[in-house]
Amino acid sequence: MDKGILVVISGFSGAGKGTVIKKLLERSDEYCLSVSMTTRAPRPGETDGREYFFVTREKFEETIRENGLIEHAEYVGNYYGTPRAYVEQKLNEGINVILEIEIQGAMNIKKIYPESVLLFITPPSGDELERRLKGRGTETEEVIAGRLSRAFEESEGIEEYDYIVINDDLDDCVDDILGIIRSVKRQPSRIEPFIDELRKGLEKYHK
Ligand code: 5GP
Repeated sequence: MDKGILVVISGFSGAGKGTVIKKLLERSDEYCLSVSMTTRAPRPGETDGREYFFVTREKFEETIRENGLIEHAEYVGNYYGTPRAYVEQKLNEGINVILEIEIQGAMNIKKIYPESVLLFITPPSGDELERRLKGRGTETEEVIAGRLSRAFEESEGIEEYDYIVINDDLDDCVDDILGIIRSVKRQPSRIEPFIDELRKGLEKYHK
């Protein structure tokens, strides 16, 4: 069985990544989402084990020491990291695993898993990003300003991603992602067993 593809999804905070991923999971059962560990406080409506595993700094640092995370990064004063066991299990089962992580983490993943696919989701413009962040209504002005400023810094790293996906219309955005991963799966390096079989089947016709 082919291994699943590790799909890294980054994007400015407020780009709508969460909504896009939720829709993608509804539309295809070939994907699952890795739940990260974080030291930030839960937002209203967030549940431990669903959006994140919410832990203390001590617990996070202990998990790092035990090699329990495949990557981790500090973002606006908090730790975020990807638990190793779940990701490796699902990839081995042939399921594509989505990591919703920020840019530093994405770059680390590309180094550790060069066959991963890095997607960057962005709203159509900076003004639209501000509008979405304010509309969410869950953060203070100061936090929003910090996130917008960080968005500018992150925009400098966009070229490192494999694909940029614009989240204007939700369904179009999900279509784009499904299409990209479908195409990536047809790359020769990812279907070597198929190519070998094909060649073997053709051999008898060779004069
Ligand atoms: P938020 O606090 O808005 O949920 O997330 C802040 C940032 O941390 C987002 O850009 C999110 O993608 C990123 N993030 C979430 N989980 C992880 C993780 O496991 N590793 C890394 N490197 N970043 C993460």
